[in-house]
Amino acid sequence: MTATTDVRTAAAEALASLGVELPAVPDGGASFEVRSPLSGDVIATLPQAGAAEVDAVVARAKAAFTTWRTVPAPARGAVVKAWGDLLREHKEDLASFVTLEAGKITAEALGEIQEMIDVCDFAVGLSRQLYGQTMPSERPGHRLMETWHPLGVVGVISAFNFPAAVWAWNTAIALVCGDTVVWKPSEMAPLTALASAALLDRALAEAGAPEGVSAVVLGAREAGEALVANRDVALLSATGSERMGAEVGPVVAARFGRSLLELGGNNAAIVAPSADLDLAVRGIVFSAVGTAGQRCTSLRRLIVHSSIVDDVVARLSRAYAKLPIGDPREEGTLVGPLINQTSRERMLASLEQARAEGGEIVVGGEAVDVDGAAGAAYVSPALVRMPAQSDVVHRETFAPILYVMSYDDLDEAIAMHNAVPQGLSSSIFTLDQREAERFMAADGSDCGIVNVNIGTSGAEIGGAFGGEKTTGGGRESGSDAWRAYMRRATNTINYSTELPLAQGVDFG
Ligand code: NAD
Repeated sequence: MTATTDVRTAAAEALASLGVELPAVPDGGASFEVRSPLSGDVIATLPQAGAAEVDAVVARAKAAFTTWRTVPAPARGAVVKAWGDLLREHKEDLASFVTLEAGKITAEALGEIQEMIDVCDFAVGLSRQLYGQTMPSERPGHRLMETWHPLGVVGVISAFNFPAAVWAWNTAIALVCGDTVVWKPSEMAPLTALASAALLDRALAEAGAPEGVSAVVLGAREAGEALVANRDVALLSATGSERMGAEVGPVVAARFGRSLLELGGNNAAIVAPSADLDLAVRGIVFSAVGTAGQRCTSLRRLIVHSSIVDDVVARLSRAYAKLPIGDPREEGTLVGPLINQTSRERMLASLEQARAEGGEIVVGGEAVDVDGAAGAAYVSPALVRMPAQSDVVHRETFAPILYVMSYDDLDEAIAMHNAVPQGLSSSIFTLDQREAERFMAADGSDCGIVNVNIGTSGAEIGGAFGGEKTTGGGRESGSDAWRAYMRRATNTINYSTELPLAQGVDFG
């Protein structure tokens, strides 16, 4: 494996390229360290926001909202267009932060920034399409219609593995809807957040937008908890683990706020006997090992027909044995590091449990040494054959482990597929249209994302993104997900000289 070049220098260069200055830690103030997963080295020490500071930022966002909501939606769209142009201009600079902090290979980091650009384009079009419906009134001389209004302050809490795109999905849509945004990024990727937010700040300032339309608060869960508890946060959009969602959801509900939860996944693909296996194997490997298995949509369970399971496992083992693992900045690397040592320990513990439950590790599942990166956590992706019944497969381990199980008929495969608590993404590889349709039908996959002949990861921004069950039920990004960021008013207008009552009520 190759040596990791100095991540501290790389971080300093990336900050300078965007003209971003890091906030200083005040004397005696709370702080936290940022480590790069590439080497395990500390690349920054940043101030940690306390509850009072978070509340002050939310108060500024609330004040900015009173102006921002009156700006016409297409004019708000023009600001998002300018932001998108800045993202295009600085795509490589921003991607380098994603690599340094989340450990993504360059192609995937560039893909993450492209996703931000795409959602800006989508939001610009949306700014002229925030349609309300009209309905026929049951009363003569009356008109019935819906109007959509901005909601208020949107709080965004994001996870380390999509350190910029998740915020952009929320923010581009929230801004055209007329909301203001306070972002608490992952404590593992705050430089990406500061760099991304600096570009939006530039677009907002050039448009003369009020101060406070977009703000970042830094810190770990305490900063997040303050945002969650604040009654002025009208919508709390939180992306992260099921554990986090279970803590956040009840707090927001208790204050009658709205929440949009995007939580863990435990995604599966079914491989049917008719599948095009060359295509399936490519799709499976990308979904299972891309981002080192650290995508919410990563493929974790493979349910293969018993007539082809040995062939599929043999093909996958050959592909796994050749995977280039190492510094994600190097050309040719396909598997970068896990986020930290804890993550590697969790992966190894899950493999231990899999063995104890009758699993057989076919290939991978080992710690990998990379020169100059002693503090990092590189691993070889694991392919594990599992019996039909086991506990470990029901849990999301945020690392590259693919459990392979077999089935004999499609009903059994769908039952196995749906038997986990999470409900994010799913796939079937088949050339049989009946099977494909069955998988997409009401008694098929129970997930928010249901694919045919592609893997579970790599969604486009045009669709609504999110999942069911313990994945949280939220939807963000494309389609009509914008409705979560607005409030609806139903208007009844009487243009007659009479006052008939609904349901024919006669009130004398
Ligand atoms: P995490 O839950 O540890 O942290 C996510 C964010 O929540 C961080 O910003 C953290 O500071 C904050 N946080 C944690 N506890 C909190 C609390 N009690 N109150 C308020 N904020 C709190 O998750 P992670 O390790 O950063 O990310 C990995 C997880 O995120 C995986 O489970 C993955 O599946 C999930 N994820 C889901 C999606 C999706 O769209 N469904 C997308 C990306 C990641």
